[in-house]
Amino acid sequence: MKPRIQVCNQTRWGEMADIITKTEEEWRRTLTPEQYHVLRDKGTERPFTGEYANTNTPGVYRCAACEQELFLSDTKFESGCGWPSFYAPTSQDNVEESEDLSLGGMRRVEVTCSRCGSHLGHVFPDGPRPTGMRYCINSVSLKLEPK
Ligand SMILES: [Zn+2]
Repeated sequence: MKPRIQVCNQTRWGEMADIITKTEEEWRRTLTPEQYHVLRDKGTERPFTGEYANTNTPGVYRCAACEQELFLSDTKFESGCGWPSFYAPTSQDNVEESEDLSLGGMRRVEVTCSRCGSHLGHVFPDGPRPTGMRYCINSVSLKLEPK
């Protein structure tokens, strides 16, 4: 077995090998209480209150915790659910999807940032074409970089 190298661009994952790990204490220091609640405690902001719920500004949505690129404004659509919704991430490598049974046994798929592990939201199979997916993401988990 080769020793595990923390940052290595020679892997097939490219940037993905650049994983960010911080202690919960460090996250508490760098995030606002609202960001910490959603990103690290897997909270959910109230619908229709988030900064980007109705934003049409062209640009790139990055992870609020580590700035990894997550979604493009081109894939944002009006879902009516009260949270920013996208039909696809910029790259499937930039998000992790895992089963979440926390809501009374209802099966949901949680979406987290692949770089820092922060909670972003959930993905549902009722989105528009071309993917048919709806990435329902908390505004507080995102940072829009206007084009
Ligand atoms: Zn991140």
